[in-house]
Amino acid sequence: MKVIIWIIIIALIVSLVSTIWPLFLILAILFVAWKLYETYYYKSPAFIAVKQRIDTYINDCNELNRHIESLKDTTLISNRTDYGDASYKDSSHWDYKRKHLQGQKYATNVHNCSRTVCDNARKKPFEYVCKYFGIKATEETLANYESILNNFEAAEDGKISIQTEKKKILDSIQNDVPILIKKFSSKKLEKKLGFEEVDMSTAYFPKYIFKYISSGGNASTECDVIMDIDNLNRFILFLSEKIKFNKSVAGQRALMTSKLRQRIKERDGFICKQCGASVQQEPNLLLEIDHIIPVSKGGLTTEDNLQTLCWRCNRKKGNKIN
Ligand SMILES: [Zn+2]
Repeated sequence: MKVIIWIIIIALIVSLVSTIWPLFLILAILFVAWKLYETYYYKSPAFIAVKQRIDTYINDCNELNRHIESLKDTTLISNRTDYGDASYKDSSHWDYKRKHLQGQKYATNVHNCSRTVCDNARKKPFEYVCKYFGIKATEETLANYESILNNFEAAEDGKISIQTEKKKILDSIQNDVPILIKKFSSKKLEKKLGFEEVDMSTAYFPKYIFKYISSGGNASTECDVIMDIDNLNRFILFLSEKIKFNKSVAGQRALMTSKLRQRIKERDGFICKQCGASVQQEPNLLLEIDHIIPVSKGGLTTEDNLQTLCWRCNRKKGNKIN
Protein backbone atom coordinates (compact mmCIF):
# COMPACT_ATOMS: atom_id res chain seq x y z
CA MET A 1 0.00 0.00 0.00
CA LYS A 2 2.75 2.42 1.03
CA VAL A 3 4.67 1.70 -2.18
CA ILE A 4 1.69 2.69 -4.32
CA ILE A 5 1.40 6.04 -2.53
CA TRP A 6 5.10 6.69 -3.12
CA ILE A 7 4.80 5.83 -6.82
CA ILE A 8 1.88 8.27 -7.16
CA ILE A 9 3.83 11.04 -5.36
CA ILE A 10 6.94 10.50 -7.54
CA ALA A 11 4.81 10.43 -10.73
CA LEU A 12 3.17 13.70 -9.71
CA ILE A 13 6.55 15.37 -9.04
CA VAL A 14 7.97 14.13 -12.38
CA SER A 15 4.97 15.41 -14.36
CA LEU A 16 5.08 18.74 -12.53
CA VAL A 17 8.81 19.20 -13.20
CA SER A 18 8.44 18.28 -16.89
CA THR A 19 5.78 20.93 -17.44
CA ILE A 20 7.46 23.79 -15.58
CA TRP A 21 11.13 23.02 -16.28
CA PRO A 22 11.59 26.21 -18.40
CA LEU A 23 10.77 28.17 -15.27
CA PHE A 24 13.54 26.34 -13.40
CA LEU A 25 15.95 27.17 -16.20
CA ILE A 26 15.08 30.86 -16.06
CA LEU A 27 15.46 30.88 -12.28
CA ALA A 28 18.85 29.17 -12.54
CA ILE A 29 20.06 31.70 -15.11
CA LEU A 30 18.82 34.59 -12.94
CA PHE A 31 20.56 33.12 -9.91
CA VAL A 32 23.90 32.78 -11.71
CA ALA A 33 23.60 36.30 -13.13
CA TRP A 34 22.87 37.69 -9.67
CA LYS A 35 25.85 35.88 -8.12
CA LEU A 36 28.14 37.23 -10.85
CA TYR A 37 26.82 40.77 -10.31
CA GLU A 38 27.24 40.47 -6.56
CA THR A 39 30.84 39.24 -6.86
CA TYR A 40 31.63 42.00 -9.36
CA TYR A 41 30.12 44.70 -7.13
CA TYR A 42 32.08 43.76 -4.02
CA LYS A 43 35.31 43.97 -6.02
CA SER A 44 34.45 47.24 -7.76
CA PRO A 45 36.31 50.49 -6.97
CA ALA A 46 32.96 52.10 -6.06
CA PHE A 47 32.42 49.64 -3.23
CA ILE A 48 36.04 49.82 -2.03
CA ALA A 49 35.76 53.62 -1.85
CA VAL A 50 32.60 53.41 0.29
CA LYS A 51 34.26 50.88 2.54
CA GLN A 52 37.32 53.03 3.06
CA ARG A 53 35.24 56.09 3.83
CA ILE A 54 33.51 54.48 6.80
CA ASP A 55 36.38 52.26 7.90
CA THR A 56 37.09 54.06 11.20
CA TYR A 57 33.44 53.89 12.29
CA ILE A 58 33.29 50.20 11.53
CA ASN A 59 36.47 49.53 13.50
CA ASP A 60 34.99 51.42 16.43
CA CYS A 61 31.82 49.34 16.19
CA ASN A 62 33.83 46.13 16.11
CA GLU A 63 35.87 47.15 19.09
CA LEU A 64 32.68 47.87 21.02
CA ASN A 65 31.45 44.45 19.95
CA ARG A 66 34.57 42.77 21.37
CA HIS A 67 34.19 44.83 24.54
CA ILE A 68 30.59 43.62 24.91
CA GLU A 69 31.76 40.03 24.49
CA SER A 70 34.32 40.52 27.27
CA LEU A 71 31.60 41.99 29.52
CA LYS A 72 29.48 38.89 28.99
CA ASP A 73 32.34 36.60 29.89
CA THR A 74 31.74 35.30 33.39
CA THR A 75 32.04 32.08 35.26
CA LEU A 76 29.04 30.77 37.04
CA ILE A 77 29.34 31.13 40.79
CA SER A 78 28.99 27.75 42.39
CA ASN A 79 30.81 26.44 45.44
CA ARG A 80 29.76 22.87 45.34
CA THR A 81 32.06 20.29 46.81
CA ASP A 82 34.12 18.27 44.34
CA TYR A 83 33.11 14.69 44.95
CA GLY A 84 35.28 13.19 42.21
CA ASP A 85 34.52 11.20 39.07
CA ALA A 86 33.03 7.76 38.58
CA SER A 87 31.95 5.64 35.65
CA TYR A 88 28.49 4.10 35.53
CA LYS A 89 26.93 1.40 33.40
CA ASP A 90 23.31 0.38 33.00
CA SER A 91 23.46 -3.39 32.53
CA SER A 92 19.80 -4.19 33.14
CA HIS A 93 18.10 -6.51 30.66
CA TRP A 94 14.69 -4.93 30.87
CA ASP A 95 13.55 -3.24 27.73
CA TYR A 96 12.92 0.16 29.26
CA LYS A 97 13.32 3.30 27.19
CA ARG A 98 14.97 5.32 30.00
CA LYS A 99 15.35 8.23 27.62
CA HIS A 100 15.76 10.82 30.39
CA LEU A 101 18.40 8.77 32.17
CA GLN A 102 20.41 8.46 28.98
CA GLY A 103 20.38 12.20 28.41
CA GLN A 104 21.31 12.98 32.00
CA LYS A 105 23.96 15.65 32.37
CA TYR A 106 26.34 16.25 35.22
CA ALA A 107 27.49 19.85 35.13
CA THR A 108 28.32 22.47 37.76
CA ASN A 109 25.12 24.33 37.00
CA VAL A 110 22.89 21.27 37.14
CA HIS A 111 21.57 19.81 40.37
CA ASN A 112 19.98 16.40 39.96
CA CYS A 113 17.38 16.15 42.64
CA SER A 114 14.10 14.69 43.84
CA ARG A 115 10.80 15.81 42.43
CA THR A 116 10.00 17.69 45.65
CA VAL A 117 13.23 19.71 45.51
CA CYS A 118 12.58 20.51 41.85
CA ASP A 119 9.06 21.73 42.68
CA ASN A 120 10.18 23.75 45.67
CA ALA A 121 12.99 25.35 43.68
CA ARG A 122 10.27 26.76 41.47
CA LYS A 123 8.56 28.35 44.45
CA LYS A 124 11.68 29.72 46.14
CA PRO A 125 14.38 29.86 43.45
CA PHE A 126 16.93 31.98 45.32
CA GLU A 127 16.69 29.96 48.53
CA TYR A 128 17.26 26.76 46.64
CA VAL A 129 20.05 28.12 44.44
CA CYS A 130 21.93 29.18 47.57
CA LYS A 131 21.31 25.88 49.33
CA TYR A 132 22.09 23.46 46.52
CA PHE A 133 24.82 25.38 44.69
CA GLY A 134 26.70 26.25 47.86
CA ILE A 135 26.28 30.01 47.51
CA LYS A 136 26.88 31.66 50.87
CA ALA A 137 25.44 35.06 51.64
CA THR A 138 28.74 36.86 52.23
CA GLU A 139 30.08 40.26 51.29
CA GLU A 140 32.34 38.63 48.71
CA THR A 141 29.53 36.73 46.99
CA LEU A 142 27.38 39.85 46.97
CA ALA A 143 30.19 41.89 45.40
CA ASN A 144 30.65 39.19 42.74
CA TYR A 145 26.99 39.25 41.75
CA GLU A 146 27.00 43.04 41.74
CA SER A 147 29.91 43.11 39.35
CA ILE A 148 28.17 40.52 37.14
CA LEU A 149 25.07 42.71 37.04
CA ASN A 150 27.16 45.81 36.33
CA ASN A 151 28.85 44.04 33.40
CA PHE A 152 25.74 42.37 32.02
CA GLU A 153 23.72 45.55 32.10
CA ALA A 154 26.51 47.39 30.29
CA ALA A 155 26.54 44.55 27.75
CA GLU A 156 22.78 44.84 27.23
CA ASP A 157 23.07 48.65 26.87
CA GLY A 158 26.01 48.08 24.52
CA LYS A 159 23.93 45.81 22.31
CA ILE A 160 21.44 48.63 21.78
CA SER A 161 24.25 51.16 21.20
CA ILE A 162 25.94 48.99 18.63
CA GLN A 163 22.69 48.33 16.78
CA THR A 164 21.78 52.00 16.47
CA GLU A 165 25.36 52.92 15.61
CA LYS A 166 25.46 50.28 12.91
CA LYS A 167 22.19 51.52 11.47
CA LYS A 168 23.54 55.07 11.46
CA ILE A 169 26.65 54.00 9.55
CA LEU A 170 24.61 52.01 7.03
CA ASP A 171 22.18 54.91 6.59
CA SER A 172 25.11 57.20 5.78
CA ILE A 173 25.99 55.10 2.73
CA GLN A 174 22.39 54.56 1.58
CA ASN A 175 22.84 56.57 -1.63
CA ASP A 176 26.17 54.98 -2.55
CA VAL A 177 25.03 51.37 -2.64
CA PRO A 178 22.99 49.97 -5.55
CA ILE A 179 19.40 49.20 -4.68
CA LEU A 180 19.65 45.51 -5.62
CA ILE A 181 22.56 45.00 -3.22
CA LYS A 182 20.70 46.79 -0.44
CA LYS A 183 17.59 44.71 -1.02
CA PHE A 184 18.94 41.23 -1.61
CA SER A 185 22.43 41.26 -0.16
CA SER A 186 22.10 43.22 3.08
CA LYS A 187 23.74 40.59 5.30
CA LYS A 188 26.62 40.10 2.89
CA LEU A 189 26.98 43.86 2.54
CA GLU A 190 27.53 44.21 6.30
CA LYS A 191 30.08 41.41 6.22
CA LYS A 192 31.93 42.80 3.20
CA LEU A 193 32.06 46.26 4.79
CA GLY A 194 33.86 44.64 7.70
CA PHE A 195 31.23 44.51 10.41
CA GLU A 196 31.84 41.64 12.79
CA GLU A 197 28.75 39.68 13.70
CA VAL A 198 26.97 40.95 16.82
CA ASP A 199 25.49 38.28 19.05
CA MET A 200 22.15 39.68 20.17
CA SER A 201 21.03 36.60 22.10
CA THR A 202 20.70 36.53 25.85
CA ALA A 203 21.94 32.95 26.06
CA TYR A 204 24.96 34.13 28.05
CA PHE A 205 22.92 34.68 31.23
CA PRO A 206 24.04 32.00 33.70
CA LYS A 207 21.51 29.36 34.50
CA TYR A 208 21.04 27.18 37.58
CA ILE A 209 19.16 24.00 36.75
CA PHE A 210 17.26 21.68 39.08
CA LYS A 211 16.51 18.43 37.37
CA TYR A 212 14.44 15.50 38.54
CA ILE A 213 14.58 12.21 36.67
CA SER A 214 12.44 9.28 37.76
CA SER A 215 14.30 6.14 38.74
CA GLY A 216 13.02 4.34 35.61
CA GLY A 217 14.29 7.23 33.49
CA ASN A 218 10.99 7.76 31.74
CA ALA A 219 9.81 10.95 33.44
CA SER A 220 11.58 14.17 34.22
CA THR A 221 10.95 17.73 35.36
CA GLU A 222 13.26 20.71 35.23
CA CYS A 223 13.37 24.08 36.93
CA ASP A 224 15.71 26.68 35.40
CA VAL A 225 16.74 29.74 37.38
CA ILE A 226 18.11 32.16 34.80
CA MET A 227 20.23 34.99 36.17
CA ASP A 228 19.04 37.72 33.82
CA ILE A 229 19.16 41.43 34.66
CA ASP A 230 15.87 41.33 36.54
CA ASN A 231 16.76 38.24 38.57
CA LEU A 232 20.27 39.55 39.30
CA ASN A 233 18.80 42.76 40.72
CA ARG A 234 16.48 40.74 42.89
CA PHE A 235 19.19 38.26 43.90
CA ILE A 236 21.43 41.12 45.04
CA LEU A 237 18.63 42.43 47.27
CA PHE A 238 17.98 38.88 48.50
CA LEU A 239 21.65 38.35 49.44
CA SER A 240 21.98 41.75 51.05
CA GLU A 241 18.90 41.08 53.20
CA LYS A 242 20.52 37.86 54.41
CA ILE A 243 23.80 39.60 55.14
CA LYS A 244 22.13 42.48 56.97
CA PHE A 245 20.35 39.91 59.06
CA ASN A 246 23.75 38.65 60.15
CA LYS A 247 24.73 42.22 61.17
CA SER A 248 27.50 42.68 58.63
CA VAL A 249 28.82 45.91 57.10
CA ALA A 250 26.75 45.32 53.96
CA GLY A 251 24.05 47.60 55.31
CA GLN A 252 26.54 50.50 55.43
CA ARG A 253 27.01 50.72 51.68
CA ALA A 254 24.90 51.09 48.58
CA LEU A 255 23.96 48.11 46.41
CA MET A 256 25.06 48.04 42.79
CA THR A 257 21.64 47.65 41.24
CA SER A 258 20.15 48.95 37.99
CA LYS A 259 18.65 51.85 39.96
CA LEU A 260 22.01 52.93 41.38
CA ARG A 261 23.69 52.66 37.97
CA GLN A 262 21.06 54.99 36.54
CA ARG A 263 21.41 57.41 39.48
CA ILE A 264 25.20 57.70 39.02
CA LYS A 265 24.83 58.34 35.29
CA GLU A 266 22.28 61.07 35.99
CA ARG A 267 24.48 62.60 38.71
CA ASP A 268 27.40 62.76 36.25
CA GLY A 269 25.19 64.27 33.54
CA PHE A 270 25.74 61.28 31.21
CA ILE A 271 29.32 62.45 30.66
CA CYS A 272 32.48 60.31 30.89
CA LYS A 273 34.43 61.56 33.91
CA GLN A 274 37.72 60.66 32.24
CA CYS A 275 37.59 62.02 28.68
CA GLY A 276 34.48 64.18 28.77
CA ALA A 277 32.69 62.30 25.98
CA SER A 278 28.96 62.77 26.39
CA VAL A 279 25.70 61.29 25.22
CA GLN A 280 24.84 64.71 23.88
CA GLN A 281 27.70 64.58 21.39
CA GLU A 282 27.50 60.84 20.76
CA PRO A 283 23.91 59.68 21.24
CA ASN A 284 24.89 56.01 20.99
CA LEU A 285 27.77 56.24 23.44
CA LEU A 286 27.87 53.33 25.88
CA LEU A 287 28.37 54.60 29.43
CA GLU A 288 29.46 52.31 32.25
CA ILE A 289 29.72 52.55 36.00
CA ASP A 290 33.21 52.22 37.41
CA HIS A 291 34.57 51.85 40.95
CA ILE A 292 37.19 54.62 41.30
CA ILE A 293 39.06 52.42 43.79
CA PRO A 294 38.38 48.88 42.49
CA VAL A 295 36.53 46.45 44.72
CA SER A 296 39.56 44.14 44.46
CA LYS A 297 41.62 46.86 46.17
CA GLY A 298 39.13 47.45 48.95
CA GLY A 299 36.99 50.05 47.19
CA LEU A 300 33.39 50.15 48.35
CA THR A 301 30.18 50.56 46.41
CA THR A 302 29.46 54.00 47.77
CA GLU A 303 28.27 56.87 45.60
CA ASP A 304 31.52 58.81 46.06
CA ASN A 305 33.56 55.81 44.91
CA LEU A 306 31.50 55.40 41.73
CA GLN A 307 31.85 57.30 38.50
CA THR A 308 30.53 57.27 34.96
CA LEU A 309 33.05 56.26 32.31
CA CYS A 310 32.59 55.72 28.60
CA TRP A 311 33.29 52.16 27.46
CA ARG A 312 36.58 53.19 25.84
CA CYS A 313 37.98 54.69 29.04
CA ASN A 314 36.63 51.83 31.15
CA ARG A 315 38.23 49.32 28.79
CA LYS A 316 41.58 51.11 29.06
CA LYS A 317 41.33 51.28 32.85
CA GLY A 318 40.44 47.59 33.04
CA ASN A 319 43.46 46.66 30.94
CA LYS A 320 45.77 48.67 33.16
CA ILE A 321 44.72 46.90 36.34
CA ASN A 322 45.21 43.51 34.76
ZN1 LIG B 1 35.82 58.34 28.25
